Amino acid sequence: MGGNEQSYVDEAFKTNWIAPLGPNVNLFEEAIQNYIKDGVHVAALSAGTAAIHLGLEILGVSHGDEVLCQSLTFSASANPIKYLGAEPIFVDSERETWNMSPELLEKAIVDRIAKGKKPKAIVAVHLYGMPYKIKEVTEVANKYDIPIIEDSAEALGSTYNGVKCGSFGEIGILSFNGNKIITTSGGGALVTKNEEFKKKAVFLATQARDDAPHYQHSHVGYNYRMSNVLAGIGRGQMEVLDERVEARRSNFEFYKASLQHLEEIEFLNEPKGFFSNRWLSCILTPSYEMKERIRYALLEDDVESRPLWKPMHMQPIFETSPNYSDGTSEDLFERGLCLPSGSNLTNQDLERIVALILKELTK
Ligand SMILES: *Cc1c(COP(=O)(O)O)cnc(C)c1O
Repeated sequence: MGGNEQSYVDEAFKTNWIAPLGPNVNLFEEAIQNYIKDGVHVAALSAGTAAIHLGLEILGVSHGDEVLCQSLTFSASANPIKYLGAEPIFVDSERETWNMSPELLEKAIVDRIAKGKKPKAIVAVHLYGMPYKIKEVTEVANKYDIPIIEDSAEALGSTYNGVKCGSFGEIGILSFNGNKIITTSGGGALVTKNEEFKKKAVFLATQARDDAPHYQHSHVGYNYRMSNVLAGIGRGQMEVLDERVEARRSNFEFYKASLQHLEEIEFLNEPKGFFSNRWLSCILTPSYEMKERIRYALLEDDVESRPLWKPMHMQPIFETSPNYSDGTSEDLFERGLCLPSGSNLTNQDLERIVALILKELTK
């Protein structure tokens, strides 16, 4: 926590606003709007996954539709497609940002249309905080008139040509889960320039009650709104977001400065105009065996590291979903490792981690 979270939570208690909705929710939404700028409206929700679910529904995705989705991501990017009875169509990554390949995206769209169904939406992800190739991906999406859900769960604080991530898709989503760059313990948000979309999200997230004195429902609703208590934590976290981005970026810079001379270790650099919050610091090694050697060497000293996200098209639950792959995400999964990346790592922690890797690779 940063410092002021407790006082905003206390406000909720003092005023007895222990409910979804309340002053903290509005003020948290305002804080995010002011941070992202670019005329966005924000709806604070119970999770990033809930935001993707509502986003897809607002874009009209329903039973039997197809939705294009980045394969190299966390399963929460794809699960909501299934909630709606739609089919995910997975698209592989390119090597410059590790995110959705614009070429494979176009190939997938053309092929799906030829097979008789035009995809309803695209879920593109800023993995580990690195923006996807926004210009190229958006051009393909516009060419075929397919809206984008911009999964910014890992990229709050990242920018592309100076503009904050979350504001590029028809709908953007954020996560405040415990592992993200800032947290409300659990939570998320839907971000959009379309005020009607925000209204629709809040309506659906609060059980879709029609305007009537009694409980009247003409839509299926959800219980997805953020609570006023957790929004208090969020207000405090927004005050330290830039510090957290600084801390994550300096972890990355430390690893890079200490390890880049090794031919076994490669880092993902920011292309021109890209600014990553470096949510996680990741390395690429020459082989699966080398990655595992490093992972075990760290583990032996009680340091946890993890392989990159396992691509969705390799997951048992999505086995039967079509995918457009050129092997990139499989290769990244085999050879990539996420190093410890918390905002609270000390220099001593970082030095210890680097020393373990150096010892393993020079023995
Ligand atoms: C964390 C995450 C989500 C889901 O967010 P929750 O708030 O945990 O539901 C979605 N997409 C990606 C890429 C994530 O990392």
